[in-house]
Amino acid sequence: MITDFAWIRPEPAGLYVRPADAWIDPARPVPVALVTHGHADHARSGHGVTIATPETLAIIRERYGDVGEARPLPYGERMALGDDVRITLMPAGHVLGSAQILLECGGERVIVTGDYKRRPDPTCAPFAATPCDLLITEATFGLPVFRHPPIGQEIARLLAARETNPDRAILVGAYALGKAQRVICELRAAGYHAPIYLHGAMERMCRLYEDHGIALGELHTLAAVPKAALAGAIVICPPSALADRWSRRLPDPVTAMASGWMRVRQRARQRGVDLPLVISDHADWDELTATIVEVDPAQTWITHGREEALLRWCELHQRSARALALVGYEDEDE
Ligand SMILES: [Zn+2]
Ligand SMILES: [Zn+2]
Repeated sequence: MITDFAWIRPEPAGLYVRPADAWIDPARPVPVALVTHGHADHARSGHGVTIATPETLAIIRERYGDVGEARPLPYGERMALGDDVRITLMPAGHVLGSAQILLECGGERVIVTGDYKRRPDPTCAPFAATPCDLLITEATFGLPVFRHPPIGQEIARLLAARETNPDRAILVGAYALGKAQRVICELRAAGYHAPIYLHGAMERMCRLYEDHGIALGELHTLAAVPKAALAGAIVICPPSALADRWSRRLPDPVTAMASGWMRVRQRARQRGVDLPLVISDHADWDELTATIVEVDPAQTWITHGREEALLRWCELHQRSARALALVGYEDEDE
């Protein structure tokens, strides 16, 4: 039975920081919310006060409108939260603005990772491994079967599909916040400089990234483009648009999907995807375990995903750990 860290506790609505009466990524409106990043399973509108990085606040405003009283906290700056708690946001490497939250109280240091990854990502600041006493880690891909390939390999498969299908469009399903911009940046890094076409639902978030200095190259919406002109074009859309009527405006599209779940063949089949691309914005199994070793906390709490296997791994490695089984996290970003 773990009795330390009594000042922070898992509640059904999220992690509760008792001395500050504040919540981390709460699933319902609260007076004071600390928000790790802009995905819908972490961010929402309706809080009295929202504390987050300036980028995340911009994303929340764009996606959900009202942030209540916004308290921007840039990476690395310390802020008092009530009389007894100090907080610092550290980069999580997940999407633009994504943060781990370092909480300090009574001489104890707690890190809440939020969603994170360790792979390089040109669209956001890299994960900062930070020493702490308690690590509260995500576990979306917390099974040994999840080992993400290098993204360059998946981008090369995408470009190869384009080469072999010059008369067809290549339609890539990718989440509108983070995944889409990362795929675009990696295509540019691989030397693809032709215009990339966007589903209307992707446009505003791509502009927001550009406003924050992330260059995405030449982007167009499909609005006035004749069908024939889209042969050989790469088009990015939300995963939900892959199978809907919207895609009929494209010439015989090859459908691709960029997601860590594409590692599971059945998921790719369910989506009817021709080209599953294993591209994830979450840590894979090796990154999750390596991060626990590197941060080396006295205790690890596991949440947000496949908790059991990582719990077992901690036990096998003589690490004190606990699975939180919080509800409400849907990994929108995949
Ligand atoms: Zn996320
Ligand atoms: Zn998440």
